[in-house]
Amino acid sequence: MLLLEERYLQKNGQGASIETPDQLFRRVARHISSVENKKKDHWENCFYNLMAKMEFLPNSPTLMNAGLPKGQLSACFVLPINDSLDDIFTTLKNAALVHQSGGGTGYNFSRIRPKNDTISTSGGKSSGPIAFMKVYDAATEHVKQGGKRRGANMGILNVDHPDIAQFVIAKLDGNSLQNFNISVGITDHFMKAMINTEKWELINPRTGQSERTIEAKELWDSLIHAAWKTGDPGLIFLDTINAHNPLFRQGRIQSTNPCGEVPLFDYESCNLGSINLAKIVGLGSKPSNINWDKLKLLVQMGIRFLDNVIQCNHYLLPEVAEMALKNRKIGLGVMGWAELLIQLEIPYASKEAVQLAEKLMRFIQETSFNASCNIAKEKGCYPAWEESIHYPNLHLRNATCNSIAPTGSISIIANTSYSIEPLYALAFKRTGVLGTKTQQVLHPIVKDKLTQLGHWNNAIQDQILETGSIREVESIPDHIKKLFETSLEIPWKYHLEHQRAFQKYTDNAVSKTINLPSSTSASDISEIYRTAWEFGLKGITIYRDGSKANQVLQKCGAI
Ligand code: UDP
Repeated sequence: MLLLEERYLQKNGQGASIETPDQLFRRVARHISSVENKKKDHWENCFYNLMAKMEFLPNSPTLMNAGLPKGQLSACFVLPINDSLDDIFTTLKNAALVHQSGGGTGYNFSRIRPKNDTISTSGGKSSGPIAFMKVYDAATEHVKQGGKRRGANMGILNVDHPDIAQFVIAKLDGNSLQNFNISVGITDHFMKAMINTEKWELINPRTGQSERTIEAKELWDSLIHAAWKTGDPGLIFLDTINAHNPLFRQGRIQSTNPCGEVPLFDYESCNLGSINLAKIVGLGSKPSNINWDKLKLLVQMGIRFLDNVIQCNHYLLPEVAEMALKNRKIGLGVMGWAELLIQLEIPYASKEAVQLAEKLMRFIQETSFNASCNIAKEKGCYPAWEESIHYPNLHLRNATCNSIAPTGSISIIANTSYSIEPLYALAFKRTGVLGTKTQQVLHPIVKDKLTQLGHWNNAIQDQILETGSIREVESIPDHIKKLFETSLEIPWKYHLEHQRAFQKYTDNAVSKTINLPSSTSASDISEIYRTAWEFGLKGITIYRDGSKANQVLQKCGAI
């Protein structure tokens, strides 16, 4: 509850909390149910219980702002970047407002003319997209959101932009663009050119003409080297995203939100929420002991909750209000997947886990669509429904229903594992995102499960705290050790298999970091990025241990 207290509870002028966690959940539930015409009290109590029992939590801005004057409730935005100073600085201002309210912004900078191109109005030379990204980065640095949340940006440049070679190395110095995740907008055409070691044309967005030709493989190698060195850039697979775009008649999607789980049009926003999978186990430890009825109920209520958020949200910009109310996108996802697997005694790195991931997400998707259909019967389809792929058979309230978000904060509040990630470490030191306060944390599931299995004592605890792993504990048999393999011990193929399993039944996208040991080579990373494309993922993010100076999570044994 420490995090809730520090960053979510309302404070008075002196910084003291003026609400309890219970009152916070009540404030949020009341606001979110206020848009119901019938049975308001019933829905308020349902939503309150969902949150108070930590079975479902909405994204941070909803927890922070619901029920407050002008409460902005969405975590995810995409804003347009057009090739004019006026537009670039209008969006910069809008991005600052979004960040201040706790939201994150994604943008595709590919419409900006390349560096040293002509400017007809002044006769001078253009600065290019990377220079403008640096302006955005600096602005973000100074809008630290009243101490509540750091502004997050996704910056995308398409693989055929003339400045792409500079873009892929833009973070190599370890200093630049620290408030950005950067990703290359990849097309299938490029992947084929790279695989066949063909030439690749760079197109000036101002003229639409080819500017020069490079070797696709050379660009790829440079990109891979930078990703190996720093974790950036990731990739966004634009053709895959658009092949699954339910509103393709509204145009081509060019960007995602900062962590990649929601592909959005310019000026679209999305509200997220996540079901805590650690709360759906019945008695016993067999997969058959998942309480599917309970999960169904949680999904139904989660969808209704998020759909209501669209209605009772305060929109900072009229353009965003229009898009949100027209398409009604929401993203219900999960957290606590690793904890669920440990409860069920299924190792993350196993076929059984991957199969269960598919079964579970398929169930969540089907239930989400049914729930959205039922709300549509009651309250109407989303206004853009007739121009969507859902028309005329699938009467939906929402153009999209599911996203797997990182749950970076809400999983800490719910005291469970992040999103669909394996445990990063069994014990770790966490450095606060806004300061330097460091805590030593033992993951609670470790003690609970090892106690249940009869393998817990002070010596074991000390060893885990010291190394962050169970590997060295001799008295514990291998099949139990396997349950507690951590992120860096899990082969990358299994990381990707989990992402693929969840993506298969997620209409938006899956945010996942493929965490890798520091010994991982550049050619491994090349293979990972290529496999991600072959797997039909919508994006890929990797992180090689130790490759950033200010890593937020650090294993106990590693320092
Ligand atoms: N986000 C942000 N700043 C942050 C963390 C997250 O703007 O410091 C946004 C970003 O769009 C991200 C989304 O919130 O993709 C969801 O992130 P997460 O699930 O980690 O958020 P939580 O609800 O747990 O705070």
